[in-house]
Amino acid sequence: MTEPILDAAPAIDFDLKSLPKVSLHDHLDGGLRPATIIELAEAVGHTLPSTDPVALGEWFRESADSGSLVRYLETFDHTIAVMQTKEGLFRVAKEFVEDLADDGVVYGEVRWAPEQHLQKGLTLDEVVEAIQEGLDAGVDAVAETGRDIQVGQLITAMRHADRGQEIAELAVRHRNNGAVGFDIAGAEDGFLPSRFRDAFTYLAQHNFPATVHAGEAAGLESIQSALVDGRALRLGHGVRIAEDITVEFDDEDADAESEEADANIGMVTLGELSSWIRDRGIALEICPSSNLQTGAIAGFGEGIESHPLDMLYQLGFNVTINTDNRLMSGVTLTDEFELLVETFDYDLDDILELTLNAAEAAFLPLEEKEALVEYINDAYANLA
Ligand SMILES: [Zn+2]
Repeated sequence: MTEPILDAAPAIDFDLKSLPKVSLHDHLDGGLRPATIIELAEAVGHTLPSTDPVALGEWFRESADSGSLVRYLETFDHTIAVMQTKEGLFRVAKEFVEDLADDGVVYGEVRWAPEQHLQKGLTLDEVVEAIQEGLDAGVDAVAETGRDIQVGQLITAMRHADRGQEIAELAVRHRNNGAVGFDIAGAEDGFLPSRFRDAFTYLAQHNFPATVHAGEAAGLESIQSALVDGRALRLGHGVRIAEDITVEFDDEDADAESEEADANIGMVTLGELSSWIRDRGIALEICPSSNLQTGAIAGFGEGIESHPLDMLYQLGFNVTINTDNRLMSGVTLTDEFELLVETFDYDLDDILELTLNAAEAAFLPLEEKEALVEYINDAYANLA
């Protein structure tokens, strides 16, 4: 590589930020504003690595850049510490919605783990309600500026803990007050979704949808368990499904530097698991920058250009693009799309397709999903 990718001239002549976007994988405790963390920490007496917003933001990004999911997860100690009161939860949720709207997001699913917010005596139901009030206030604040955004909660259980059943019941209890789905998060390796089989069965019995983190820090066994035990309708990341795909180039093709190289994808063989995911259209919630930071794609090469998302997308997998943790990765959804434009030469049609994939995979009733798809299509049609 001769120069950093981000220094390259923008390959697009449209305003990515203003395009309507759908965000399916974005952690509430990974998207706080540094200035808010500092103010909330002061109020609750929590000590931070820095009390300067710029330096603190930098600290989060550097810590997350270590290449280890475990160290990445350590940064959450600070964000979670300031989200233990109704006021803290409300403010973080409200600002989260405003920040998404400022980035052009028109529909977002916000995931977070209620069990991590009980340190100061709030109950599970109280924290879910505080977050919903904050989300509603965020939606109202956005509406006052003449824009629209819709958000839903993905109620998450921590996979190293044992509260799956309780959290599944909590999610179902709040299904008419903002909860749209269930997830498990945290250390993936060694904590298969099968640990939560009973909770997932309970959710299925209540026709409540689940997306499951799998194929990030662990491989195919974890993905299989997400589908079988978790009955996952979407996969959080799922990027390591690429381990179930073999691509063989003949020598001639591999050496060729023709402009048609993109079309030269060689001989592709999908295993049974990757076939199932592609053929059934199970959405992959891909988070490009995060995947690079946590080492999720280390098995495929060094830089973002070796991210298998492009191969998965070209092969017809249901790829969606997300941010994971905007604070830790220092990104917005606009940035992630920009990265794909620069790295894989994606154009407006690609961005529209990836956005529609996300809209269609949203945990929304059919009529609302169709309205969302129509809204996005109209906005793109008006660009022409
Ligand atoms: Zn995640």
